[in-house]
Amino acid sequence: MSKAIRKVLIGGNWKSNGDLAFIKSFVPSVLNTLKFEDSKCQVVVSPTSLHMHLVKTLISNNVQVSCQNVSQYPSGAYTGEVTSKMLKDLGFNWTLTGHSERRQFFSESSDVVAVKTKEALDEGLNVIVCIGENLTERTENRTFDVCISQLTPILKNISHLKLWKDIVIAYEPVWAIGTGKTASPEQAQEVHFKLREWLASNVSKDVAQETRIIYGGSVTETNAKDLITQADIDGFLVGGASLKPGFTAIVDSHKYKF
Ligand code: PEP
Repeated sequence: MSKAIRKVLIGGNWKSNGDLAFIKSFVPSVLNTLKFEDSKCQVVVSPTSLHMHLVKTLISNNVQVSCQNVSQYPSGAYTGEVTSKMLKDLGFNWTLTGHSERRQFFSESSDVVAVKTKEALDEGLNVIVCIGENLTERTENRTFDVCISQLTPILKNISHLKLWKDIVIAYEPVWAIGTGKTASPEQAQEVHFKLREWLASNVSKDVAQETRIIYGGSVTETNAKDLITQADIDGFLVGGASLKPGFTAIVDSHKYKF
């Protein structure tokens, strides 16, 4: 087993789920009972933007709250959009960008994802950038090429090398999201390792060593240990299982890294 050289990050993506009753029950009974040291682990949950504030006010420990998506534009005449500046203003420090559901259902291109990521970084947010191949692309052995085609516009948009410390890459094979089909630990590790090599060659060796690359796709309390103990897996982005009590065991799996 590898020793962790990077702080583990466990993200929970609630998608368009949750209501007042769920939040008032789940935050005290699950999130507020999570125990982890800040030096070893970060836990970041993403309710809908409508629910973020309530979740934040109910949290009584070091769990943080993220947005699921952010505007590519600054504040102004962009109806329906939440801006990075607004998130910062309300004390939020995280957003996701490029989730495959945004790409699939809202036609977000990698170029748009890169602009959103830049806007968020420039406003001082931490960004969990999601990438990953679909089933056809995996079958055609294009997994790595697809991931790199999604990351390259981000690389080109980052205005300063030091902003990489605010980026977490979430490798989420689309065929594993919400399907119950998890990438095997070896499949995930192979991609994470190659992504780190790519960062070393295209950004810097330091950035490659320091950037967290987390895995997402049907992570559960059952498979978390085998995945987290892979050398280049630095945590998870969890969808369905982040809405259940078993999220506690997924967060606890970070201890296998130390
Ligand atoms: C996700 O929404 O990013 C995700 C990985 O979902 P699930 O864990 O349900 O596959």
